[in-house]
Amino acid sequence: MDAPGKATPVIDLTDLTRVYHLGGHEVRALAGITLSIEEGEYMAIVGSSGSGKSTLMNMIGCLDAPTSGRYRIDGTDVRDIDEDGLSDLRNQKIGFVFQGFNLIPRTTALANVELPLAYAGYGKGERRRMATIALESVGMGDRLDHVPAELSGGQQQRVAIARAIVTEPSIVLADEPTGNLDSHSTEDVLQIFQDLNDYGRTVLLITHEDDVAARARRVIRVEDGLIAADYRNEVLESVA
Ligand code: ADP
Ligand code: MG
Repeated sequence: MDAPGKATPVIDLTDLTRVYHLGGHEVRALAGITLSIEEGEYMAIVGSSGSGKSTLMNMIGCLDAPTSGRYRIDGTDVRDIDEDGLSDLRNQKIGFVFQGFNLIPRTTALANVELPLAYAGYGKGERRRMATIALESVGMGDRLDHVPAELSGGQQQRVAIARAIVTEPSIVLADEPTGNLDSHSTEDVLQIFQDLNDYGRTVLLITHEDDVAARARRVIRVEDGLIAADYRNEVLESVA
């Protein structure tokens, strides 16, 4: 039982494991992760390649199920949520951003961002209105009718972020979102995550770049499927 007055963590993992079976071999991608994340946290997940970061994020995003252990989201055990419930959760509560943008080619920015709204059952006019606002919020209001091939990497990632946030999810998960971007676009994208967090969204971001991790308030380091470190960055006072 939680202590009185203590908020339920939005994400609560207890001894979570994920074992892959590959050609007779067992790969323990997650070897027992216990982790609590409060609503409104901004957390970076760091660790070397193959340490289990993406597997962990896929678990948190309910894209994959654990081999053992427990995952409670907003206090509800994910095992008690059926497939329809999980897909609603992924569509409405969680926004995903990937390194490779994953936009639909030959499809306008606006249509890409409208897609999650179509799944959620919004009508045409409402979709257009909400997608336009989301694109404006990431500085892409003047590129609504551009297709991905007509946009730079940084612009494509901003469209992808608009798509991730258009349903106003409370959790934003990003797997190496700046991995393919130059330093200028990286700065744009990090500023958007900062703004989202300032508005109260829980932001989890995988990165292998120290300067990106330094922007988060909390950092966990994953090694061999375990949490090897969990610390908070100093709050940097802005010098006016
Ligand atoms: P990271 O994102 O930190 O690079 P991953 O979570 O992708 O690491 O992978 C963790 C481990 O699990 C690695 O050893 C990887 O090879 C293995 N792994 C990841 N996905 C699969 C899969 N679908 N099948 C088998 N092994 C996998
Ligand atoms: Mg990865």
